[in-house]
Amino acid sequence: MSVRVRFAPSPTGEVHIGNIRTAIYNWLFARHERGKFLLRIEDTDRERSTPEAVRAVLDAMNWLGLDYDEEPLYQSTRLAAHVQAAERLLQTGHAYKEDKGGTGQGECVVFRMPGTDVAYHDEVKGDLRKEAKDMKDFVIVRSDGTPVFHLANVVDDIEMGITHILRGDDHVENTYRHIALYRALEAAVPHYAHLPMIVNAQGKPYSKRDGAAFVGDFKEQGYLPDVLFNFLSLLGWSPGGDREVLTREEMVALFDLARINSAPARMDMEKLLWMNGEYIRAQSPETFARHCRAVLEQRGLWGAMCGSLADYGPGIEPEVYFRRVLALMQVRVKRYPDLADQAPYFFTEDYPCDAKAMRKRLGKPGVPEAVRLLRERYAGADPLTAAEAEQALRETADAAGLGAGALIHAVRVAVSGSSQGPGLFEMLDVLGGKRVAARMARTLSQLEKEGT
Ligand code: GLU
Repeated sequence: MSVRVRFAPSPTGEVHIGNIRTAIYNWLFARHERGKFLLRIEDTDRERSTPEAVRAVLDAMNWLGLDYDEEPLYQSTRLAAHVQAAERLLQTGHAYKEDKGGTGQGECVVFRMPGTDVAYHDEVKGDLRKEAKDMKDFVIVRSDGTPVFHLANVVDDIEMGITHILRGDDHVENTYRHIALYRALEAAVPHYAHLPMIVNAQGKPYSKRDGAAFVGDFKEQGYLPDVLFNFLSLLGWSPGGDREVLTREEMVALFDLARINSAPARMDMEKLLWMNGEYIRAQSPETFARHCRAVLEQRGLWGAMCGSLADYGPGIEPEVYFRRVLALMQVRVKRYPDLADQAPYFFTEDYPCDAKAMRKRLGKPGVPEAVRLLRERYAGADPLTAAEAEQALRETADAAGLGAGALIHAVRVAVSGSSQGPGLFEMLDVLGGKRVAARMARTLSQLEKEGT
């Protein structure tokens, strides 16, 4: 039997990570089994299923590389088939008509439950059963002639030849009714795997209130599609061992319904951020540069960088300078915007200054004087290599009777406005002697102004 699975979203607006995780699991299973991964848009809710909502689903799938086989099926085009199935059920005695409201406004079609227990084996949850007495007959076509979800869902799965249904475990209760429908329609019952819910730190269903919950949020916040894919694949599934960072090929090779956990999966944003950093570290310098440049351009920092280079050197092409900055920053950046947020001083003279760090590091007796002396040495050194920068700093600290550490901290704040960043001497090397000296001078005169 060749595997055919589907993702059957109801487009309602934005795409929740729980839904897209369902798509990912179906995709991984289909690719692992060399079967087919199909898409069915359950767009029968006329009010919520707008073209924009459908677009959001397609965009999210495209962004994550969830390619599907065959043309998508739009459920709204299948009304006649659903009604026809209901008529067949009426003919075979599996359904009856009833005037629900008793108002004479029209009859709905009600499915007759078989009157026996329904049991099935869930690939994730094990053997499940519901007793006959706990299952009531249910409406399959409303009095206005529209089919309900259960009928449309089952009829379309039969039409599409679906062999395995992987979906959220909020559908476990529906499954008993669906199985009864399959049997009444004399169709083979598919295999089921109900995926665990995604929960927040309190164990409650993960929602927008907990932070980013829609695929678009993660995209906007600078997460890579491969990272979101990798991360969501592990929310409920474990490939075995401690492996967490996996290529798509590895995930496809290892994916196994038997390794899906039935316990709720906790959303861990810190882990997601960590994983994004891991992926960024592993990127080629070219790829990293391309994405970072896009962020800089968006924020007007690319132009600022070119301007600052023209004014202060260090006499190299913007592209070359940019690569030198990135070589220092690639290991420190967890999301592309971090580059601009954490190290704006590489790109503009108009970077923010941490006033508290400034007072703390430069307010110590003897420090401003040492910074002034060191500034003179740096001003004359262009290019300023990391080794020279270090030697000059240590000599200056010694002569001033200061610890090298105190002067290192002071110079860092003086040239970057921040107390954090890559190694100071590499940073000075990249910025260039002329620019470093200019910034030190600016900081010192600022201090003097504040002192008077
Ligand atoms: N449209 C349903 C949902 O998104 C489909 C459920 C199913 O996969 O069968 O919950």
